[in-house]
Amino acid sequence: MHKLFLVLLLATITAAAQDATPPQLVHFDAKMVDTSVDPCTDFHQYVCGKYLAANPIPSDEVAWGVGSQLNLWNESVLHGTLDQLAAKKSDRTPNEQKVGDYYSACMNESAADAAGVKPIQPLFDRINAMKSTAELAEVLALLSTSFPAAWEGSDNQTNVAFLGFGPAPDYNDARQVIAAFDQAGLGLPGRDFYLKDDDKSKSIRTAYVAHVAKLLTLAGEPEAEAQKDATSVLALETEMAKLQMDNVARRDPKNLNNRFTLAEVKALTPSFHFDAYLKAIDAPPSSVYLVSTPAFFKGLEPLIRQQPLSSWQAYLRWWTLAKSARYLSSPFVNEDFQFIKTLYGVPELLPRWRRCVSYTDRDLGEALGQSYVNRAFSPEAKARAAQLAKDIEAALDSEISSNDWMQPATKQAAHLKLAAVLNKIGYPDHWRDYSALTITSNSLVENVEHATAFESRRQMEKIGKPLDRTEWTMTPPTVNAYEDPQTNTINFPAGILQPPFFDPAKPDSVNYGSEGGVMGHETIHGFDDQGRKFDLNGNLHDWWTAADTKAYDQRGDCIANEYTQDVPEAGVKQNGRLTQGEDTADNGGIHLALMALEQDLARQNQTLETKGDDGLTNEQRFFIAYGDSWCEQIRPEAMRTIILTNPHSMPKYRVNNVVSNMPEFAKAFSCKSGKPMVHTTQCRVW
Ligand SMILES: [Zn+2]
Repeated sequence: MHKLFLVLLLATITAAAQDATPPQLVHFDAKMVDTSVDPCTDFHQYVCGKYLAANPIPSDEVAWGVGSQLNLWNESVLHGTLDQLAAKKSDRTPNEQKVGDYYSACMNESAADAAGVKPIQPLFDRINAMKSTAELAEVLALLSTSFPAAWEGSDNQTNVAFLGFGPAPDYNDARQVIAAFDQAGLGLPGRDFYLKDDDKSKSIRTAYVAHVAKLLTLAGEPEAEAQKDATSVLALETEMAKLQMDNVARRDPKNLNNRFTLAEVKALTPSFHFDAYLKAIDAPPSSVYLVSTPAFFKGLEPLIRQQPLSSWQAYLRWWTLAKSARYLSSPFVNEDFQFIKTLYGVPELLPRWRRCVSYTDRDLGEALGQSYVNRAFSPEAKARAAQLAKDIEAALDSEISSNDWMQPATKQAAHLKLAAVLNKIGYPDHWRDYSALTITSNSLVENVEHATAFESRRQMEKIGKPLDRTEWTMTPPTVNAYEDPQTNTINFPAGILQPPFFDPAKPDSVNYGSEGGVMGHETIHGFDDQGRKFDLNGNLHDWWTAADTKAYDQRGDCIANEYTQDVPEAGVKQNGRLTQGEDTADNGGIHLALMALEQDLARQNQTLETKGDDGLTNEQRFFIAYGDSWCEQIRPEAMRTIILTNPHSMPKYRVNNVVSNMPEFAKAFSCKSGKPMVHTTQCRVW
């Protein structure tokens, strides 16, 4: 259950540029503010208006902003390394051979085109040879060790066929890793996409059926049969959607901590052969099995019994394609992209090199990431970022001491939890060992299958062992960050410790506003409405008195209500209960960053009011730098999809709602009460 910082880093659909000019890193520039806009009326427009007008979304991008520009820069750094290692055929280290050959196989489009559907034919043959639904377990195990990622839950479900399975820290004793089953099975982004009845939802479902049918046809099914199969896929997935827990309930860890013996798991879905599944994926026995959604697994039972074998075979053929089409020949890649276009509104596919960089990063991230760190993240930068994280934590420590709504004993527990947080900066202390993984320059699909089997085995081996707090779930070049309440860690990859987020050449007011805001955000996650339910050891354990909880919830309700709002551009309403944790982290995070800046300036005999050569006070520059980090525009189709499935608010609200809750902002820009950026009720948790 990780808390991600940025909205839009979906692996296959991120940023791109059409031309061959090497991308530039964006640096803070106070002159970028739009002085024709009143900062007290629309601060996001004041800070970002000029940037957004000058930086329209490129045709192969879902969204475009300062984060996507940095992402493109990072990818270009990796691209240089990959081109070099792919061309070099000797004198490579074992990791260099893997990284170079993976990339080279991926870039070989003509080989993929010549192979057509062949690389996945063995999977199709296995599905078509099924004699009964009793074989469902074995076939699913085969799929989940061929393409990622059955072990990786997300906000709505695990994005694979039927069920997710993998290691998870025990909610009751986070030192131990146990086994966990998760709801899965939906090819659309979330259950609402199946169950909502508005015209837009209906048209997306129509497009989905056409897309499934088209892929099945490309794989060799006669058109009429493919059409019938696609209709039955939608019907089956709709039944699964009805069984799924919604994404708001899913935010509460108490709802997910359902503990079973294996015999009890089997009793939920007797017709599914769990033993065969666990044996085929090589999962060791677990003392406890978590089942995120028991109702989902109970509901699978009648589905298995009632649906004919042919429906399940169609479903499995579809999921084989859903997971592999992007690695196959051009017709498959293009049809796979057609549905991304429907969901995210992006007109063009990313260039092949960018897709290949992203697959290499996913499958060999800690081998490829070493060169990125050498190139782009110095020990000095790491030391400064580590100090910034410490300053932010000191601010939260003082905020806990001084607030007027927590009981002394609860404050003590909060101090201890904060002191126990492990800060991870840049990259892992120990790099992952890929020696058991075979990669060749022959075939992308084969490499993905090998890498998935390797990673699946690595994941399964964690079950029954102590939790490793030092492991990273993001690769070094990632432009993102996360907090993990169960390891009690905050994690900042080197990829986000770059301009404009982190820029050693710029004043501290800039760095505390941008990267400080990011670090404050992740630090607060450990104390947001879900994070606060975990203790210093990462256990799901209530350390708050009833009075504290009541006071906390009142503050949290203010945030949740404030962010429950129509988003006209997207044609949907944002649910403040879905985004409450992220919004709490945004609001509290920037407070911490400002407190930390004040301390930092005091060490340099400056104050927040000290003016610089640019005519701005430190405090004004801090807020502008914070707003700058959210200069980003998103296609309306993508906004709709994100608002329905993702717990982050849209960039505009991540700036305007946050500053509107801050008297410090109103003071810095002399905003009078009654102005849009001065909320009458100012929400505040931290
Ligand atoms: Zn977050």
